[in-house]
Amino acid sequence: MVLVYAEATNGEFKKVAQEAVVYGRKTAEVLGTECHAVVLGDHAGAEALGKFGATKVHRISGEPLKNFDAAVYTVALSEAAKQLGATVIILPHNSTGKNITGRLAARLEAGSVTGANAVPEMKDGYFTVTKPVFSGKAFAHVQLLTDVKVISLAGNSIPVTETGGEAAVSDLSIDLPQPKTRVVKHQVASGRVPLPEAELVVSGGRGLKGPENWSVIEDLAEALGATTACSRPVADSDWRPHHEHVGQTGVAIRPNLYIAAGISGAIQHLAGVNNSKTIVVVNKDPEAPFFKAADYGVVGDLFEVLPRLTEAVKKYKG
Ligand code: FAD
Repeated sequence: MVLVYAEATNGEFKKVAQEAVVYGRKTAEVLGTECHAVVLGDHAGAEALGKFGATKVHRISGEPLKNFDAAVYTVALSEAAKQLGATVIILPHNSTGKNITGRLAARLEAGSVTGANAVPEMKDGYFTVTKPVFSGKAFAHVQLLTDVKVISLAGNSIPVTETGGEAAVSDLSIDLPQPKTRVVKHQVASGRVPLPEAELVVSGGRGLKGPENWSVIEDLAEALGATTACSRPVADSDWRPHHEHVGQTGVAIRPNLYIAAGISGAIQHLAGVNNSKTIVVVNKDPEAPFFKAADYGVVGDLFEVLPRLTEAVKKYKG
């Protein structure tokens, strides 16, 4: 059986959980088995995970799960996998998944692939998982040789499709350890969706000339409901905070839409954004390398183009 950790974000099963369940369902089809989901904590709406392909949902509750603690979550998921006899365990490759995938694999003595981006295949009789390597320039096809396998799924790798109805939800009893850490505060940097989860991103580079001009990026982001990002020199120059810097040495993102203004498209920048679904580039230099990676390109002065784009978005949205 394939067991998917369906993570609830602010009590809801959002896209990250839906993608993981769809991936679990497709993996179960490859293996000719069932896909179950496990949820940690008492979150409403777990039965809806059935729509994405979970035939059963197992709920583990308890005080130690109220706040995220990697050790407690690892015990909960590994004991669930053992009790249920799961052979493949799937997690999202977000901050939670990155924190616990390795621990879980170690505890289950499982072969593991992190950041997978394609449904596993049986190739030459081996369960084979594909993941991007070298900043997405190449792919590794990894055979998992153990009985139990642990995979984390890169975000936005698989379309969310609905197939089934509601899943039956039942409680699973696990002896949980006491947490070793305690989150005392979640500080949200802005009211916007955090960069790694954002579907829409508007990003600026050195072409903005200085922090005083950032309002053209902010205004377009505001109109679209997007999150803002920047190139590395912009963060290095303190025009923008470092958590907005995308690229090889910054955050790697995969939004549905990435709008890059005044960014040349250096390879180190592309490494963090070239998995975006649609890339729009605004640059006054027709030879800017970013145009080669763009789905749509506007050759022009960003100080003219962006305000017009913002107005057009506002008009369209009414
Ligand atoms: P520039 O290269 O200066 O480009 C500015 C662009 O703006 C130009 O193309 C110009 O034509 C355009 N422009 C200027 N004025 C206007 C205007 N009015 N309207 C429209 N367009 C205009 N960079 C990253 O971004 N992320 C990383 O993670 C990263 N990691 C790195 C790691 C290493 C080891 C190294 C060596 C470098 C790394 N870099 C990274 C730096 C990278 O090589 C580039 O130097 C950087 O991305 C360039 O930033 P930029 O495009 O904003 O600036």
